[in-house]
Amino acid sequence: MKENLNPYAISQLQFDQAAHYLKLDPGLAQVLRTPKRQMVVSVPTKMDDGSVKVFEGYRVQHNIARGPAKGGIRYHPNVTLDEVKALAAWMAWKTAVMNLPFGGGKGGVICEPRKMSKGELERMTRRYVSEILPIIGPERDIPAPDVYTDEQTMAWVMDTYSMTVGYSSLGVVTGKPVSLGGSEGRHEATARGCLFVTQEACKGKRMSLRGATVAIQGFGNAGGIAARLFHVAGAKIIAVSDSKGGIHNPRGLDPIKALRYKEKSGSVVGLAGTSKISNPDVLALKCDILIPAALENVITSENASDVKAKIVAEAANGPITPMADDVLARKGVFLLPDILANAGGVTVSYFEWVQDLQNFFWEEDQVNAKLETMMKRAFREVCETSQKYRVNMRVAAYILAIGRVAEATLVRGLFP
Ligand code: NAD
Repeated sequence: MKENLNPYAISQLQFDQAAHYLKLDPGLAQVLRTPKRQMVVSVPTKMDDGSVKVFEGYRVQHNIARGPAKGGIRYHPNVTLDEVKALAAWMAWKTAVMNLPFGGGKGGVICEPRKMSKGELERMTRRYVSEILPIIGPERDIPAPDVYTDEQTMAWVMDTYSMTVGYSSLGVVTGKPVSLGGSEGRHEATARGCLFVTQEACKGKRMSLRGATVAIQGFGNAGGIAARLFHVAGAKIIAVSDSKGGIHNPRGLDPIKALRYKEKSGSVVGLAGTSKISNPDVLALKCDILIPAALENVITSENASDVKAKIVAEAANGPITPMADDVLARKGVFLLPDILANAGGVTVSYFEWVQDLQNFFWEEDQVNAKLETMMKRAFREVCETSQKYRVNMRVAAYILAIGRVAEATLVRGLFP
């Protein structure tokens, strides 16, 4: 059977698999599996050569029953409305797994950020924000960084929103620079959260993280920082990769050197003491822990049987398809699903939003300690759900999340 790789179809299949265990009323299930609001905008932008280019952008809010929508903004040539819808749904389930008072949202613009100048990116960002402005705000929908957007992008989002409403609104966006109401620890939060739940999974597997071999696909905010934090925790990073390819050293490589090399040369490929491997080969390496930290659908029914890791931690959103999930489960792989494994980012985004609303800022130690408590609690709750329903960790995480959103929706009642 040909595998359906449409991310929105996949997110709906994942929903249906878990909703089945909750025996939801069909009408309620329909409400929860459908995006609440989808906005498609044109983003006319003056390019450096004086020409005008019109980009297409999206903002989707999947569900806001438990609080404002929350989710990143992605700049990538392959962005589609269906991808943004899937990412928004995943955010709704992620915030619920973590028990944060948020719903799920996501945004994206179809563009080639690596071929655009800083000025072009700034003008495109400001126009995109002014187009989606009617539906965002600290109490409506709070964007954050995602693929190829960063702290600078978030500062432009904050400034554009603030200039339009006429006062400085720190809480409209998270992942901002610390000098502009960002939170200590946010930059590393996704990777740190991934480390905390992987440590718990290692305990469950009775293996030590110290000395465990780790392969990571993607070397940006999620993957690059994970490489450093896992290295510091004593794991042996044997391979990393970026969009240009991967590097491998079975005796271990130094992620800090890889980062410095990438800053100079634009890629990790070519780092002294490593051999070049392809991105698909990174996924098939013999290792204890595999961390896909780039894009969707990298482990499918075609290559899932090649995975040799004991634990797979999804730092990226949607890297494993449902058919691949089944293959990995049959192989006994312990899966840490994206809505748990990469939830550290949105959790510290929540801390950032709370700090912004209170104008009271925390030390990094406080942020990291609270993150650890919340990641471990979520891990425990997903494990308990997995045992109760005798399902894998992904289905368990969805059961926990959908149950929480369903309960909030039921007590609120259907308007009008
Ligand atoms: P980023 O822009 O910082 O980095 C993306 C990385 O992926 C880069 O190293 C890039 O070279 C690499 N890459 C791009 N195309 C690739 C390909 N075809 N093969 C291998 N590598 C490729 O983005 P990020 O924020 O690290 O996001 C990565 C993933 O993590 C996404 O799925 C994102 O949704 C997810 N995520 C990010 C956060 C966050 O806080 N940044 C939070 C939760 C989830």
